[in-house]
Amino acid sequence: GHKSRVTVVGSGNWGSVAAKLIAFNTLNLPSFHDEVRMWVFQEILPSGEKLTDVINRTNENVKYLPGIKLGKNVVADADLENAVKDANMLVFVTPHQFMEGICNRLVGKIKEGAEAISLIKGMEVKMEGPCMISSLISSQLKINCCVLMGANIANEIAVEKLSEATVGYRENRETAEKWVQLFSTPYFMVSAIQDVEGVELCGTLKNVVAIAAGLVDGLEMGNNTKAAIMRIGLREMKAFSKLLFPSVKDSTFFESCGVADLITTCLGGRNRKVADAFARNGGQRSFDDLEAEMLQGQKLQGVSTAREVYGVLRHRGWLELFPLFSTVHEISTGRLPPSAIVKYSEQKPIFS
Ligand code: NAD
Ligand code: 13P
Repeated sequence: GHKSRVTVVGSGNWGSVAAKLIAFNTLNLPSFHDEVRMWVFQEILPSGEKLTDVINRTNENVKYLPGIKLGKNVVADADLENAVKDANMLVFVTPHQFMEGICNRLVGKIKEGAEAISLIKGMEVKMEGPCMISSLISSQLKINCCVLMGANIANEIAVEKLSEATVGYRENRETAEKWVQLFSTPYFMVSAIQDVEGVELCGTLKNVVAIAAGLVDGLEMGNNTKAAIMRIGLREMKAFSKLLFPSVKDSTFFESCGVADLITTCLGGRNRKVADAFARNGGQRSFDDLEAEMLQGQKLQGVSTAREVYGVLRHRGWLELFPLFSTVHEISTGRLPPSAIVKYSEQKPIFS
């Protein structure tokens, strides 16, 4: 009768780990159907096989999460409409730049009363202003949307190393608890807080700070400089979040989605890694080039988020209040050299 069916929309590095976490729980929890559908953006592998066929045959996402069994109850499906049509619970986890197109394709295709959660770190900037990905999902698809963010480098969770995460919800605590139940495992500790915008902005904005941290690594500035950049970045994250959404709580920045995600991403993330290489090349090779060469199809979010944040800052006349955020964008476009990250980031006092 009333068992929930779960579909994961996305199957990259984190999407595949999310499917693994969920598939473990749906097998063990009576309130969920065992099967987890996973929508896969189809591609043909060098062997000539379809990615979905290989996932369904080997139970591994050989391209984005090689060597990890997802669970036999994960079913890869390249047909987006078919993948979502029976789902009561939808987990969105794609690089953020693809979500507008995906939402357009899903209008009118979602089951009545379905609930959503977004694991996506990013935003869209429209004429009317910034739009968080969870708002894009809820406004386009007319569904409630929670978020899950945290210090969650996917490859570490894939091998079951202990991590924490934060679910952000708007009103309904019971729905949030259901998401907590669906994601929690002995090595993945999830808690829920009522601050959807704060949680999502933390996850989104820390990717810009991670670019800055990677630049200072590439410039070999040392640990103190990197810590300073992280501190200034955290302060800009908080100031920007509260200017956009006055309801954002200070305490959110002390959850896994806040300072902990900032730390792990600045130490071990992809944004850090590619920005490090960018600085070592003296800004001579573009982020797009380095991303394609270094990440094998995985995507950076920090460079586009810096551009999106810059658009908001310029539009609202806030550019000089956020020297770190704006300098990251100006470096990524080549307007400023990588060394500008230390020159300008603390140039002007911002909020105390
Ligand atoms: P990823 O970086 O591995 O991106 C690759 C995915 O994008 C693949 O599934 C690919 O098929 C898909 N893709 C490529 N072109 C596409 C298109 N045109 N349309 C739709 N899909 C396309 O993805 P990920 O690591 O799963 O990240 C998804 C989100 O989760 C991001 O917002 C990221 O910031 C966030 N996140 C990632 C991690 C991590 O450690 N990887 C951790 C936490 C959060
Ligand atoms: P990167 O995309 O920089 O690897 O960050 C992953 C992440 O969000 C960890 O929580």
